[in-house]
Amino acid sequence: MDFEIKRKDGAGRIGRIDLGGWRVETPTIMPVINPGILTIPPNEMREFGAEILITNSYIIYRNERLHEKAVENGVHSLLDFDGPVMTDSGAYQLSVYGDVEVGSEEILEFQDSIGSDIHVPLDLPTPPGVERERAENDLEVTLQRAREGVKVARANDAVIAGPIQGSTYLDLRRKSALEMSEIGFDLYCIGGVVPMMEEYDFENLVKAIVASKSGIPFNAPVHLFGAGHPMVFAVAVALGCDLFDSAAYALFAKRNRYLTNRGTWNVKEMEYLPCSCPACHGNSVDDLMEPELLARHNLYVTFRELRVVKEAIRRGELLELASERARSHPRLHSALKWGLENGDWIEEVTPFSKKSAFFYTGEESMFRPEVMRNKEAVGRYRLGGEVLLFIPHDLDIDTLDQIEDRGVQVMEMKPPFVYPKELSRTYPFGQSLVPTYVDSGRHKQAVKTIEEVLKVYGDNFEEIYIVGSVYKDYLWELDGVSYLEPSQLDSVID
Ligand SMILES: [Zn+2]
Repeated sequence: MDFEIKRKDGAGRIGRIDLGGWRVETPTIMPVINPGILTIPPNEMREFGAEILITNSYIIYRNERLHEKAVENGVHSLLDFDGPVMTDSGAYQLSVYGDVEVGSEEILEFQDSIGSDIHVPLDLPTPPGVERERAENDLEVTLQRAREGVKVARANDAVIAGPIQGSTYLDLRRKSALEMSEIGFDLYCIGGVVPMMEEYDFENLVKAIVASKSGIPFNAPVHLFGAGHPMVFAVAVALGCDLFDSAAYALFAKRNRYLTNRGTWNVKEMEYLPCSCPACHGNSVDDLMEPELLARHNLYVTFRELRVVKEAIRRGELLELASERARSHPRLHSALKWGLENGDWIEEVTPFSKKSAFFYTGEESMFRPEVMRNKEAVGRYRLGGEVLLFIPHDLDIDTLDQIEDRGVQVMEMKPPFVYPKELSRTYPFGQSLVPTYVDSGRHKQAVKTIEEVLKVYGDNFEEIYIVGSVYKDYLWELDGVSYLEPSQLDSVID
């Protein structure tokens, strides 16, 4: 299996997986097909945008009729789908029922015998919030089965996914990711997140992603196993997830649940259909009570959101989109903020330059790599003598030119950014759009950067002047800085 990254933004990417003669573009979602209960026929899945499906090899293994047909004609023929098929191992059943009647090696051999394109060993999903000892023990079992699983898969010349567990212990998630990477898989699955999705526990979901991704090679595809709600795609992709799977489209439809990129609504309580997909178009809320039609809407909206995410990557606006989507749920918003603040590795993989503008979308923007880089870059500026800091709309170009002619170093402030005026046309400063109303959070970040400037260059400075009406209330906190009104400039700086 080959994975090629074509476009990047944040930690998100548009990639291409070459798999057994098929090509899959990521990020994408694999609709979950239960071969016993087909809500939407798999051969219609391409109409929605599906390029790859996932089915459960354990369900096939346990059902005599399906088992026989799958071994005889292969899983593609069983599902009637002309495209790659990934097979899960029964780990989900194991997590729900506590036991399965198959061994890890046996289920991997079975996945091979039915011609699956991506095999998954029988890992042990650990729920969130369990005792540490259980999380550690479960992880050892998963690692052991993964080591054995790789041998089976390599002997069969098969593509295999490495499941990452560790419950809500971030060090275990990272350890799991590092050891799985050491063993070496074709792709990596972040597992054990279904209960987090069900509970809207986006904080733990994002923590699991960020900790796992910190141990996985950047150029390997990552599957967020069991996450299929469109409201999380932008955030999860921005943090480096490439593959999702959805049983939600069908399961939710059975309970009258209408998926949107802002959350899940009960169709029985709705009066309007805010969607013009082929399932909603020309139909009423009453028509959508029918589970198959509702499942179709759920799939359309799922793939539509992925196209929105991909276009945002292409335009360099993924972090802005993630911010917007995160506003749909307070816990998703705090999760995104945590992810950007704590995912040190995100900065390393974020492109340095973009054609698009940096949009300040709220406090989470403060933790974006561009802002962090600005603070760190301060040490490379070579500042000294007299320095003037100003906010662009407070001073006109002529005044600035005169001040520069007097040998004063001029720095612009576009909170949260602070940078030498010479860089004002470079990314992200030149293209940044920050609101004129400056909230206290952005002030604090700008003050932090100015403090950094003082720390690094304090001894080189003769005087530091700040012109910026909105700064009056904040900069008294800083020692060694004089605050000036624009009209005072001429008398003070000569
Ligand atoms: Zn619709």
